[in-house]
Amino acid sequence: MSHPASTAPIMLASDLDRTLIYSANSMDLKTSDTLAPRMVVAEVYNAAPLSFMTRAAEELLEDLVKRTVFVPVTTRTVAQFSRVRLPGFGQGYAVTTNGAVLLHNGAPDADWSRHIQRSLGADCAPLEHVLDHLTGSDADPAILRVRTAEDFFAYAIVDRDALSDAYLEGLAAWCAARGWTTSLQGRKLYCVPAPITKEAAVNEVRRRSGAGLLVAAGDSRLDAGILGVADLAIRPAHGELHSDGFSRDNLTVTAETGIMAGEEIMRFFSGILANAATFSAG
Ligand SMILES: [Mg+2]
Repeated sequence: MSHPASTAPIMLASDLDRTLIYSANSMDLKTSDTLAPRMVVAEVYNAAPLSFMTRAAEELLEDLVKRTVFVPVTTRTVAQFSRVRLPGFGQGYAVTTNGAVLLHNGAPDADWSRHIQRSLGADCAPLEHVLDHLTGSDADPAILRVRTAEDFFAYAIVDRDALSDAYLEGLAAWCAARGWTTSLQGRKLYCVPAPITKEAAVNEVRRRSGAGLLVAAGDSRLDAGILGVADLAIRPAHGELHSDGFSRDNLTVTAETGIMAGEEIMRFFSGILANAATFSAG
């Protein structure tokens, strides 16, 4: 691992759902209720709390956003992302829509949007073909509803119990032949054009911000790229990459699962900052 110049800021690129923030269904608390950690609401939807992090994780993040280039990196659309309340919300860069949109101080970056439009060339089937495949005569009964994300990609709400591995493998192959990728996260099955990646947008932020060390965290196949381009990476011991047994150099896997893994990831980030401070002081 190369050590960057001490003056270059450290960049932290973190996925949100099931990495940093957790719904009630994904918390996976192992302790008795009386020993549960204090939590904060990170997202409100239809006037009800939907996503959470531990209070300790939020306190760590409050410090991290002041001392690093902290970049939320999510497959959420801009509208879905705008509900998430994190320390430093609306400041700096955020990657949404799986990398198709780069927000800077809350506004979509027009240069990046043009770049994305140009990159969706002849190698990618149009969104309509994928929608037809998900909903037409080849549709699987486990596909309950199909939605589009800002006209960039599609995701289906699925019945996980009824969804077969054979259908998933067939869909992945069908998509791959058309320049698309798939990812299953909870009850959402994503189909995304291959050029729309989180890591492309993360690399762009890294270039613009002049960041040195890049540290990344994520739990799904759509996060594999940011874990791959990072100098140091961490993933929780749950989720799609964990099921895949995903591994690479300089990758840490949390000891905890669920919302406690989210807190552990924030501690991991803080530890890197502390070490970097020691390194530059020495
Ligand atoms: Mg995730």
